[in-house]
Amino acid sequence: MARYTDPVCRLCRREKIKLYLKGAKCDSIKCPVERKPYPPGEHGRDRSRQGSEYLVQLREKQKTRRIYGLMEKRFQNLYEVASRTPGITGENLLQMLELRLDNVVFRTGWGSSRSQARQWVRHGHVTVNGKRVTIPSYRVSVGDLVALSTKARGFIVVRHNLDTLDRQLVPWLELTSDPYEVKIINRPLREHIDIPVREQLIVELYSK
Ligand code: SF4
Repeated sequence: MARYTDPVCRLCRREKIKLYLKGAKCDSIKCPVERKPYPPGEHGRDRSRQGSEYLVQLREKQKTRRIYGLMEKRFQNLYEVASRTPGITGENLLQMLELRLDNVVFRTGWGSSRSQARQWVRHGHVTVNGKRVTIPSYRVSVGDLVALSTKARGFIVVRHNLDTLDRQLVPWLELTSDPYEVKIINRPLREHIDIPVREQLIVELYSK
């Protein structure tokens, strides 16, 4: 499966905001967005101007896609599904992105970033309703129980994440009596999705 392999901090600099793609580094003074708040490249500073309406919509879509770590084709496919689902397309899209298994693992704080969470899933360290699921894009449903494998519970990096990240559990997830298991108690509402994007602009872009 195709995936982005270049330095991810460039993506944040391109969008001129923190996309939180690198875990602990994002909150440290080493974050390049703090030091170089302009797009990367030789002409980065020249690209700091406000663009056309199309450009603003495009940047909003790219920002969202990059936060969740999706390639263009997969993102477009998800948009198609969101547009066919009853309700507000932009909100449907964000809801589907939030319900991805890798995002759930990220939200629990077991993974410091969505890419690390994706690694836990791909390597078989995550179960859904007791069954191992290795597909990061797997969409969880209300009532599902997502848990970390016994082996992964002993990982120093997982414990370190839980001790240091201090990530608040989102209202649509609930810890069970097992500290490494969460239940999906609701579908995420827009106000519970804290990513700084204007999803309506993505809808406008794809509706052209
Ligand atoms: Fe983005 Fe994090 Fe890199 Fe900062 S450290 S530029 S927030 S990925």
